[in-house]
Amino acid sequence: MNIAIDGPAGAGKSTIAKKAAGELGFIYVDTGAMYRAVAVYLTESDISASDEDLVEKSIADISVEIKYEDGAQQVYLNGENVTGKLRTEAAGNMASKASALPCVREKLLSLQRDLAASNDVVMDGRDIGTNILPSAELKVYLTASSAVRAKRRYDELVAKGAENIDIEKIEQDIIQRDKQDMEREIAPLCQAEDAILVDSSDMSIPQVIDTIISEFKKIK
Ligand code: C5P
Repeated sequence: MNIAIDGPAGAGKSTIAKKAAGELGFIYVDTGAMYRAVAVYLTESDISASDEDLVEKSIADISVEIKYEDGAQQVYLNGENVTGKLRTEAAGNMASKASALPCVREKLLSLQRDLAASNDVVMDGRDIGTNILPSAELKVYLTASSAVRAKRRYDELVAKGAENIDIEKIEQDIIQRDKQDMEREIAPLCQAEDAILVDSSDMSIPQVIDTIISEFKKIK
């Protein structure tokens, strides 16, 4: 059984997917983390995402692996656990640029499909329902307004003790990332025809999870 959850940056996909997976006893697969690992590799190697030939050559031999430790996904890059380096704005922005390159998507495709073929998964990303798992039993397109997504990100940063954060800058970054993800030629972010649309702008986390679990029960 596979559940695909796609949607724009900051829509709450990972929180929702993780909790839904926990309730159903499925494995949660965060595909954004795989793109972020490639982004960390490129940044640390001082390679620009605009140099497609160099990116293609340099990533040919890198290894990106997923392991589960205490039920939590860990991402290994060339044997090193890089999970702690992935959730920065810089890694997200670099991932958004690098993920537009066919060689990067190709590199991660079989890793994602293999995980779904051998496990019950809730997988989140941008092209899971449209491209990676077109036969997923349930597809969800989870979104929220850019203002709500910026406010959630702002609250998260404040809770972590950050100061002087510019919420308008956060919203502009979100809009820019949406544009890059939706307008790229290969596997752009869009709602699959058979996906259910969930706009979480005015919904709580438990409400979104209940919606997904009840949709899943209908098809099970
Ligand atoms: O979801 P997250 O913010 O971690 O994803 C980082 C970036 O990786 C996204 O902005 C997107 O460009 C890319 N991505 C993708 N396809 C996926 C998952 C993420 O292109 N399935």
